[in-house]
Amino acid sequence: MAGEPQADCLFCKIVSGDVPATVVRTSDTTVAFRDINPQAPTHVLVIPKAHYPDAGALAAAEPLIAADVLREAAAVAADEGNADTGYRIVFNTGSGAGQTVFHAHAHVLGGRGLNWPPG
Ligand code: C5P
Repeated sequence: MAGEPQADCLFCKIVSGDVPATVVRTSDTTVAFRDINPQAPTHVLVIPKAHYPDAGALAAAEPLIAADVLREAAAVAADEGNADTGYRIVFNTGSGAGQTVFHAHAHVLGGRGLNWPPG
Protein backbone atom coordinates (compact mmCIF):
# COMPACT_ATOMS: atom_id res chain seq x y z
CA MET A 1 0.00 0.00 0.00
CA ALA A 2 1.25 3.51 -0.81
CA GLY A 3 3.31 5.01 1.97
CA GLU A 4 3.84 1.73 3.84
CA PRO A 5 7.37 0.69 4.90
CA GLN A 6 9.24 -1.37 2.32
CA ALA A 7 11.34 -4.28 3.59
CA ASP A 8 14.16 -3.63 1.14
CA CYS A 9 14.36 0.16 1.69
CA LEU A 10 17.40 1.52 3.52
CA PHE A 11 15.67 4.74 4.57
CA CYS A 12 12.62 2.86 5.90
CA LYS A 13 15.14 0.98 8.09
CA ILE A 14 16.55 4.30 9.32
CA VAL A 15 12.99 5.42 10.16
CA SER A 16 12.40 2.19 12.12
CA GLY A 17 15.79 2.38 13.85
CA ASP A 18 17.02 -0.89 12.31
CA VAL A 19 19.85 0.99 10.53
CA PRO A 20 21.70 3.61 12.60
CA ALA A 21 21.92 7.24 11.53
CA THR A 22 23.00 10.50 13.11
CA VAL A 23 19.57 12.06 13.56
CA VAL A 24 19.49 15.85 13.97
CA ARG A 25 15.74 16.54 13.91
CA THR A 26 12.49 14.66 13.88
CA SER A 27 8.86 15.63 13.45
CA ASP A 28 5.65 13.62 13.44
CA THR A 29 6.12 12.91 9.74
CA THR A 30 9.86 13.33 9.02
CA VAL A 31 13.37 12.36 10.10
CA ALA A 32 16.51 14.42 9.37
CA PHE A 33 19.95 12.81 9.61
CA ARG A 34 23.51 13.53 8.49
CA ASP A 35 24.54 12.12 5.11
CA ILE A 36 27.26 9.45 5.58
CA ASN A 37 29.18 10.88 2.61
CA PRO A 38 28.91 14.64 3.15
CA GLN A 39 29.44 16.94 0.18
CA ALA A 40 29.45 20.15 2.26
CA PRO A 41 29.94 21.14 5.92
CA THR A 42 26.16 20.88 6.27
CA HIS A 43 24.81 17.83 4.44
CA VAL A 44 21.64 16.54 6.02
CA LEU A 45 18.93 14.38 4.49
CA VAL A 46 15.28 15.05 5.36
CA ILE A 47 12.99 12.11 4.64
CA PRO A 48 9.31 11.45 5.14
CA LYS A 49 8.62 8.57 7.52
CA ALA A 50 6.21 7.24 4.90
CA HIS A 51 7.73 5.47 1.92
CA TYR A 52 7.36 7.12 -1.48
CA PRO A 53 9.98 6.55 -4.16
CA ASP A 54 10.71 10.19 -4.93
CA ALA A 55 9.67 13.75 -4.17
CA GLY A 56 7.10 13.93 -6.96
CA ALA A 57 5.35 10.77 -5.81
CA LEU A 58 5.34 12.09 -2.24
CA ALA A 59 3.89 15.46 -3.26
CA ALA A 60 1.19 13.81 -5.39
CA ALA A 61 0.07 11.46 -2.61
CA GLU A 62 0.79 13.49 0.54
CA PRO A 63 1.22 17.20 -0.22
CA LEU A 64 1.11 18.17 3.46
CA ILE A 65 3.97 15.78 4.25
CA ALA A 66 5.91 17.15 1.26
CA ALA A 67 5.49 20.57 2.84
CA ASP A 68 6.70 19.15 6.16
CA VAL A 69 9.88 17.96 4.43
CA LEU A 70 10.51 21.48 3.10
CA ARG A 71 9.79 23.08 6.47
CA GLU A 72 12.15 20.69 8.23
CA ALA A 73 14.83 21.27 5.57
CA ALA A 74 14.67 25.01 6.23
CA ALA A 75 14.77 24.33 9.98
CA VAL A 76 17.89 22.18 9.55
CA ALA A 77 19.56 25.02 7.63
CA ALA A 78 18.68 27.43 10.43
CA ASP A 79 19.92 25.00 13.10
CA GLU A 80 23.23 24.68 11.22
CA GLY A 81 23.69 28.44 10.85
CA ASN A 82 23.09 28.49 7.11
CA ALA A 83 19.92 30.58 7.01
CA ASP A 84 21.73 33.87 6.36
CA THR A 85 24.65 32.61 4.26
CA GLY A 86 22.49 30.49 1.97
CA TYR A 87 21.88 26.82 1.45
CA ARG A 88 20.50 24.46 -1.14
CA ILE A 89 17.66 21.92 -0.98
CA VAL A 90 18.08 19.21 -3.63
CA PHE A 91 15.78 16.35 -4.62
CA ASN A 92 17.68 14.07 -6.99
CA THR A 93 14.91 12.37 -8.94
CA GLY A 94 15.67 9.33 -11.08
CA SER A 95 18.95 7.49 -11.56
CA GLY A 96 19.94 9.83 -14.41
CA ALA A 97 19.94 12.69 -11.90
CA GLY A 98 21.95 10.76 -9.33
CA GLN A 99 19.17 9.29 -7.20
CA THR A 100 20.48 6.11 -5.56
CA VAL A 101 18.00 5.60 -2.72
CA PHE A 102 14.40 5.37 -3.90
CA HIS A 103 12.74 6.74 -0.77
CA ALA A 104 12.02 10.46 -1.17
CA HIS A 105 14.65 12.67 0.45
CA ALA A 106 15.77 16.27 0.45
CA HIS A 107 19.49 16.99 0.61
CA VAL A 108 20.18 20.14 2.66
CA LEU A 109 23.61 21.49 1.67
CA GLY A 110 25.34 24.51 3.15
CA GLY A 111 28.36 25.89 4.92
CA ARG A 112 30.38 26.55 1.77
CA GLY A 113 29.93 28.36 -1.54
CA LEU A 114 27.59 26.48 -3.87
CA ASN A 115 28.10 26.85 -7.61
CA TRP A 116 25.40 27.15 -10.24
CA PRO A 117 24.65 25.25 -12.40
CA PRO A 118 25.26 22.16 -10.27
CA GLY A 119 27.24 19.29 -11.80
O1 C5P B 1 20.12 11.54 -3.99
P1 C5P B 1 20.67 10.19 -3.62
O2 C5P B 1 19.66 9.07 -3.73
O3 C5P B 1 21.94 9.82 -4.37
O4 C5P B 1 21.08 10.32 -2.11
C1 C5P B 1 21.26 9.24 -1.27
C2 C5P B 1 22.16 9.70 -0.18
O5 C5P B 1 22.07 8.80 0.91
C3 C5P B 1 23.66 9.77 -0.57
O6 C5P B 1 24.12 11.10 -0.45
C4 C5P B 1 24.31 8.83 0.45
O7 C5P B 1 25.58 9.29 0.88
C5 C5P B 1 23.29 8.81 1.57
N1 C5P B 1 23.30 7.66 2.46
C6 C5P B 1 23.33 7.86 3.83
N2 C5P B 1 23.29 6.81 4.69
C7 C5P B 1 23.27 5.57 4.22
C8 C5P B 1 23.25 5.33 2.82
C9 C5P B 1 23.25 6.42 1.96
O8 C5P B 1 23.39 9.01 4.29
N3 C5P B 1 23.26 4.54 5.07
